[in-house]
Amino acid sequence: MLGCSSQRGGSCYLGWLLTLTLTLPLATRGARPKLLLLSFDGFRWDYVDRVPTPNFHALMEEGSIVEQVENTYITKTFPDHYTLVTGLHAETHGIVGNEMYDPDLNASFSMETHSAYEPRWWAGAEPLWVTNQKQGGRSGGVMWPGSDVEIGGAYPSRYLPYNASLSFERRVETMVAWLMGERPGEGVRSVQGGVDFGVLYWEEPDESGHNLGPENPLMDAVIADIDDKLGFLRNELRKMGLYLLPIVNLIVTSDHGMTQLSKDKVIELDQYLDRDLYTWVDKSPVVGILPRDGKLEEVYSALVEANPNMVVYRREQIPERLHYRHNNRIMPIIIEAKEGWTITQNRTTGPHMLGNHGYDNTLPSMHPVLVARGPAFRQDYVKSSMRSVDLYPLMCHILSVRPRPNNGSLARVMDLLSEPSPPTHSTPLEGRYQPSFATALGVVLGVVMVTVFLVVIVKQMTLRQLPSRQSEMAQPLLLEELQL
Ligand SMILES: [Zn+2]
Repeated sequence: MLGCSSQRGGSCYLGWLLTLTLTLPLATRGARPKLLLLSFDGFRWDYVDRVPTPNFHALMEEGSIVEQVENTYITKTFPDHYTLVTGLHAETHGIVGNEMYDPDLNASFSMETHSAYEPRWWAGAEPLWVTNQKQGGRSGGVMWPGSDVEIGGAYPSRYLPYNASLSFERRVETMVAWLMGERPGEGVRSVQGGVDFGVLYWEEPDESGHNLGPENPLMDAVIADIDDKLGFLRNELRKMGLYLLPIVNLIVTSDHGMTQLSKDKVIELDQYLDRDLYTWVDKSPVVGILPRDGKLEEVYSALVEANPNMVVYRREQIPERLHYRHNNRIMPIIIEAKEGWTITQNRTTGPHMLGNHGYDNTLPSMHPVLVARGPAFRQDYVKSSMRSVDLYPLMCHILSVRPRPNNGSLARVMDLLSEPSPPTHSTPLEGRYQPSFATALGVVLGVVMVTVFLVVIVKQMTLRQLPSRQSEMAQPLLLEELQL
């Protein structure tokens, strides 16, 4: 066939390109943009340059990277994952820790108990997967904190209940099937009928970072494995034709980084304070202290000057920049350890880890990775910094979802977009199809078709003029022409 090359394993590259060119407009005409948000828990921003990570680097070249993402305080898993999908600081969305006590509910929350599935803890905010559905979209949640909880009366359109033993590969296959519009027993229906906003969570490299410590050379293999997992996702999207579909966007990020601990950097509260005076609510490195009734002053006085490697705040003294004050779930006294220090009651209760996070969100070691690719994003673009609360309005913009009130700013991250333009949320929601996207698609397809045409013409002209390259040519038709 004219224009085919056997150098690609017998496949007809140009034919494939022409087919793609002709079929893509049919596949994506009028389609809603799709966005997949993937979190590798505890993937620090600088891990991508520590060992070869070809898949992360491919995403950077294909899209954008943000070097420093300032996440929200406290830099823990549940607060920061909820911030990513609400654009709210923890004091506003109400998931102020992995462990919480709510004096109004007189109830405790732990990410490791059934309490994490109680809607009342999450009701302070509406995550994007719910908002997307309210505005006509379909959402999918795979293990993302909160995505298997009924929030505002809704679950994601498709979701999996949390199951730590479910492999990354199975999670990806499930999400890709949802994006494709696959339904049990019915097979693939249509890409347009599939999920348009998906959130996917994986527990590593957080777990290894805690156990080994981030500076441990054994972390190299853990990071390389995460890159392989990202490669698996890219391949699955490619296999299903989603990767290059000009409506599919991918954001790979995390909730926080990780810092090295030391057995020499331990603060023992028992040295300063009687355990009967308080309840210990949240864990190191930011400890929530609930004093017994009438004991607030006594507890505060005992702690405030006790150790130079921790800072003690009454709730109303917590710096405004941390956005961690205006919520009853934040304890009357919090203690923040300096970076690398561990707060425990005594050494028999810890530390049992070599790495941790949760510290001040301005510390680079607490910052997560963020790379993004797809038609919405600029290519080969490096942005120096952003705040994690800004991701929410950016995602709303990409999905053409009217955002809920939030702490973020689209203006601060507009430069990440391939087509920076003002939000169009004042337009009717049924008009979610973006004219600017259609224009871009038309231009891209036009360029592809012209390129294909020119490649074919130039190749033929070149072959006719260079008989000495005969031995390199493998196509019978072209060889016959040359032999004439
Ligand atoms: Zn985490």
